Amino acid sequence: MIPHMSANSNTNSTLLARSLSAVWHPCTQMKRHETLPLVPIARGEGVWLFDPDGKRYLDSVSSWWVNLFGHCNPRINAALTDQLGKLEHVMLAGFTHEPVVELSERLRKLAPAGLGHCFYGSDGASATEIALKMSAHYWRNTGKLQKTQFVSLQNSYHGETLGALSVTDVALFRDAYGALIKQNATVPCPDWRNAEKGESAEAYALRCANALEAHLQQHHEHIAAFIIEPLVQGAAGMAMYHPVYISKARELCSRYGVHLIADEIAVGMGRTGTMFACEQANISPDFLLLSKGITGGYLPLSIVMTTNNIYQAFYADETARGFLHSHSYTGNPLACRAALATLDIFAQDNILATNRDKAAYFNHIAKPLREHAHVRNFRNTGMIWAFEADTPHADFAQRCFSLGLQHELLLRPMGNTVYFMPPYVISKDEIQLLVTRTLKVIEALV
Ligand SMILES: *Cc1c(COP(=O)(O)O)cnc(C)c1O
Repeated sequence: MIPHMSANSNTNSTLLARSLSAVWHPCTQMKRHETLPLVPIARGEGVWLFDPDGKRYLDSVSSWWVNLFGHCNPRINAALTDQLGKLEHVMLAGFTHEPVVELSERLRKLAPAGLGHCFYGSDGASATEIALKMSAHYWRNTGKLQKTQFVSLQNSYHGETLGALSVTDVALFRDAYGALIKQNATVPCPDWRNAEKGESAEAYALRCANALEAHLQQHHEHIAAFIIEPLVQGAAGMAMYHPVYISKARELCSRYGVHLIADEIAVGMGRTGTMFACEQANISPDFLLLSKGITGGYLPLSIVMTTNNIYQAFYADETARGFLHSHSYTGNPLACRAALATLDIFAQDNILATNRDKAAYFNHIAKPLREHAHVRNFRNTGMIWAFEADTPHADFAQRCFSLGLQHELLLRPMGNTVYFMPPYVISKDEIQLLVTRTLKVIEALV
């Protein structure tokens, strides 16, 4: 065994060197990899990722929030293998195919009422771009040419292309590109961590809704759409808020003639406990954005669902009134089949109900973590957990990541916010392992 393993380790270090030489990794200061090694992954199974030596890591962040039913899921694999034998891709302009039609029909039935039309993109940021363009173009087609501004919440994240950055309020992602980005307004974010002492999450959400109303009242003639991440702002550090804000936002957007865009790229597909987060506020947005989990974490795909009213404003004889947007891989059949297999698993395994059991178990097991003297704001929505660590280390996120790996965990904190967003196939034993080892990691760093 020993010589074999060291041969593998050599292969590993060669792979890392080749990666650092040829691959520019995302969201990464490449120089940091002089001291922080890349992690080579050779295969995956369920919640586990394995390096070429067989060392394993529990993927507690679902590989950037995309995986739902585990790595190498046999059912999604089978659907893709079947599709590979039939059709890998065909352009969606002027052509159609069974997987894209079936997926659109099934999503129409599942989504909040009224979202009957699906427009396809390739990733989350392109879904944001599509919704922003479609909203402004709708107002143009209906004679309201001055409605070209967008509003987002403070600390919002809707992707990193230039249009998406114009509604993203994360300074790190924006500052270097400020000169290239359209200026849009932000309104206070209902994240309950910002509530006054003694103020409930609901009262604080209502107070933020008042601020939204004041903004819309004053500026609605120039505003095309208000975009939100319903219930949980992911990249803000899993900021959670009361659903009453979403109902109020729906009411206000309708009253002031502003589209409501629900970016459910991270929170859709059961992540918050319901299939779509908007259901918890009992509302339908004008646009619903899906990506990330829609293919079970297999392939890039995004979908912008919208209403018949918006669709009809583009339906005309003139080409220029039509929606002018396309991506080469729009509606890719393999990605659509992965999405269909994902929806099948939701239905066949009653996932929303089993997730409720798992979440209750998680919360029970997590008691020592929640009550730890150096853990603040422990919070949970559906299959998302987060807390802040009180730590003296300025480089906590990096230390936590490295120490996590030593404990077989893939933890990827944002600042001092540690979060879990595990694949839904996580078992009770794996939940226990995740929580107890995270506790060890935290204890070593506070
Ligand atoms: C990840 C994410 C996006 C962007 O999706 P990409 O596929 O990374 O471009 C947009 N909005 C939200 C809420 C996200 O979490």
